[in-house]
Amino acid sequence: MILLLRKRTCIVILGLLFLLTLSLLVRFVLPCKTVPSTAIPNVVPEVKTSTLVIAMTFDDGPDPEGTPAVLQVLSKHQAKATFFMIGKQAEKYPDLVRRVHLEGHEIGNHGYLHSYSLYRNVSKAMKDIEETQNLIYRLTGRRPALYRPPGGYISEELALALAKKSITVITWSWIQDTKDWRSPPADIQAGHILHYAKPGQILIFHDGGPNRGETIKTVDMCLAKLASQGYRFVTVSELIQMKGN
Ligand SMILES: [Zn+2]
Repeated sequence: MILLLRKRTCIVILGLLFLLTLSLLVRFVLPCKTVPSTAIPNVVPEVKTSTLVIAMTFDDGPDPEGTPAVLQVLSKHQAKATFFMIGKQAEKYPDLVRRVHLEGHEIGNHGYLHSYSLYRNVSKAMKDIEETQNLIYRLTGRRPALYRPPGGYISEELALALAKKSITVITWSWIQDTKDWRSPPADIQAGHILHYAKPGQILIFHDGGPNRGETIKTVDMCLAKLASQGYRFVTVSELIQMKGN
């Protein structure tokens, strides 16, 4: 009888331990609340408009090689774009932040540390994002109105916390992501983008990171071809203003 009771107690304890482990796994290991973002309020992947406009965006800069090369090609085509800057990069290259701003492009916030795991904690994420807001404000006199989450992953909780600060979360047109950071050949990237191009899209590229050559060529090819089809290239905030037009 005692043996049977002990056996039952053991089974109950093992069962409880199993449930505890499972709940810890769900809470801390599986990204249960971090989902690709289209269904979350305050998250904009693209804009509905019939006007021939597209917003090009550049992530992970500023970078002493990539950013000037991107600025040069944008200037060649008289295109405006949005740069989602990493705070620690902006701190390292303040002149590039000022230059992007002075050349008429928009600067968005891409987090100070660009850490995927940190942004699962809303208060830590907000502190990191606020630090970048302050830094960009000190350098340009303008507080970014846009935040792009690293990897495009964001929780509803963080999106709502950002809404309270009047910061809109910008992802991108998923169909147009060529993963340019892996440097696929420019003709393949441009071919894909030109095939799927539609008004109101937000295109993602990277001016930060190594080997930006194929990205620069892709942007050059896309700007030339899309302009010949009548497209204009605007900042993300300008694109949002055109919603429904
Ligand atoms: Zn990034």
